[in-house]
Amino acid sequence: MKICSICKKEYSEPSALSRKDNQTEICPDCGLREALEAFGVKDDKVQEVMDVITDATKPQVYTMYSAEGDMTFIMEDKGNTTSVVGFYYGTPDDEATKEFYGKTTATFEM
Ligand SMILES: [Zn+2]
Repeated sequence: MKICSICKKEYSEPSALSRKDNQTEICPDCGLREALEAFGVKDDKVQEVMDVITDATKPQVYTMYSAEGDMTFIMEDKGNTTSVVGFYYGTPDDEATKEFYGKTTATFEM
C-alpha cells in the first residue's frame, strides 16, 4: 500500500505524479483533482466534475425481465461489453438483485 502525500489515504492503484513538483507520487484521485485544477476547473466544481467522471467509468447494473421464463437477468455494462452477472426467478426486485449479483457471469459482445 502506498500513502498519498496530499490526502494521506492508502491506495493500491498506480500513482499519479503531482503537477506541483513533478516528483511527488499521489493517488489517482488527487492526480485527477490537480489535472482538473490545471484545466481551470474552479475549486467548488472539482468534486462535481469528479463525480461525473467516476459515474461514467463505473459499471452500469440493470435488470432485464423475461416474461417467457419468468426470470430476471442482472446485466452489467462496462465500456462496450455487456455481461450477465446473475439471474433469479420472478420479476425484478431490488433485494433479489443485490442477493444474486455476481453469482453467475457470462460475457458477450453486443
Ligand atoms: Zn490523494
